[in-house]
Amino acid sequence: MSDPAVVIVGAGAAGVGAGLELQARGIPFVILEAQGRVGGRAFTDKTSLGVAWDQGCHWLHCADVNPLVDWADRLGATYLKDRRDDWFGVWRDGGWMDKAGRQRVLDETWAPIMALADIAARPPDVSLSKVMDLSGQQGGLLRHWLQLMSSGDPEAVSARGYADYEDTETNWPVVSGYGDLIERMAAGLPVRLNTPIAAIDQGANHVRIETANGHVKARACIVTVSTNVLRSGNIRFSRGSARELLDLVEDVPCGWYEKVAIRVSGDPFAVEGQRGGSVQLANDHVVNFQVSPYWPGLVVAHIAGSTARELAAQGPDALCEHALEALAAGWGSAVRKQVQAVAPTGWTDNPHVGGAYSYAKAGCVGSRHAMIEADTGNVAFAGEAFSRKWQATAHGAYQSGRDVAGRVADALKLTA
Ligand SMILES: Cc1cc2nc3c(=O)[nH]c(=O)nc-3n(C[C@H](O)[C@H](O)[C@H](O)COP(=O)(O)OP(=O)(O)OC[C@H]3O[C@@H](n4cnc5c(N)ncnc54)[C@H](O)[C@@H]3O)c2cc1C
Repeated sequence: MSDPAVVIVGAGAAGVGAGLELQARGIPFVILEAQGRVGGRAFTDKTSLGVAWDQGCHWLHCADVNPLVDWADRLGATYLKDRRDDWFGVWRDGGWMDKAGRQRVLDETWAPIMALADIAARPPDVSLSKVMDLSGQQGGLLRHWLQLMSSGDPEAVSARGYADYEDTETNWPVVSGYGDLIERMAAGLPVRLNTPIAAIDQGANHVRIETANGHVKARACIVTVSTNVLRSGNIRFSRGSARELLDLVEDVPCGWYEKVAIRVSGDPFAVEGQRGGSVQLANDHVVNFQVSPYWPGLVVAHIAGSTARELAAQGPDALCEHALEALAAGWGSAVRKQVQAVAPTGWTDNPHVGGAYSYAKAGCVGSRHAMIEADTGNVAFAGEAFSRKWQATAHGAYQSGRDVAGRVADALKLTA
């Protein structure tokens, strides 16, 4: 392989964003990707169920300001300007709540979650569970929502880190697949698949990147792997300021978030006009189900936080059974006979991802800010965890890739 000016490690949304920025500037680069596909945590599964569904990101969050909406329009991806409360339902104490009960639950969960941004931004840097009352009637559901949004447990997640996210409360699902969109954005970029990086040696004027098939030398390297991959030691950083950054990353792990997609015959999901919703079997046993008009015969279960971690540790069958048990509670045990196929995700066990998305540990928001602001010279970092205002999202990852690539090119005076 001839030596490019820049090596980008990872072909997820951040790596693709970095590649597009360098391509626009005419700077030679290559993207080295460990897995056999582009997209990382953006992955539209088109094979396991016969209906394409997103194993990772699916919603264009902050859609009114999300830079990927332009890409979606340009590449003909389809999305829905959806209102989620139209279909939101709550199954609790043996049945679906009526419309008034549902509205009360919505008011009592979303209002405090939306207010979190203001409360949580204030010092000191405590956990989410310290700034939100999780002991009340809606405590179990609130906990579940916070787990889905941070991928950690509220006791562990920094409230101030969470509040960094600048939510515009506009979220649109990508009907044609978010993973598919990222893959199409990468078409034409020089990506080498099945090429895991084992080590990065940061010299003063060059960087040496070791792969299983030899090494590459470049003026700069942009690392876009998840914080759990950085924490795992799978990539050895032999020296330099990039290596020092790893101490900060230790405080910003990825949590856990798994989905189980279930294909059923017929349409058992229409309940009193509402379609998906949260099935709460017990205070700490909630599964969120997404039933979408554009996925005929498909329901997708969402499970996050330590529940997802524990189920992942027991294996895919345990994860599927957890979802199926809640499905049968919500839509009647007969629905089990209608199940045709089940497909679980495996983000926790994927060694090239190792979790869902990042959160700062309670008390550690300073580490998150410091790692984003650090100048690590010719080995720079990008990815969802390195986005100050859009952490944990695909558009945050993409924008961080673009911004970091621009900064590296300017700092090193890289030209076409
Ligand atoms: C279940 C789930 C649901 C989500 N839902 C949403 C949503 O609805 N909307 C939203 O905006 N976001 C969502 N997210 C978050 C979003 O998917 C991520 O924030 C984003 O895709 C991360 O992109 P990234 O480029 O930072 O990292 P990644 O996508 O992890 O990309 C890093 C790449 O590096 C590669 N890599 C790792 N190790 C090596 C190595 N040694 N050598 C070479 N390559 C390596 C990996 O294979 C990967 O392709 C969700 C995530 C999950 C898991």
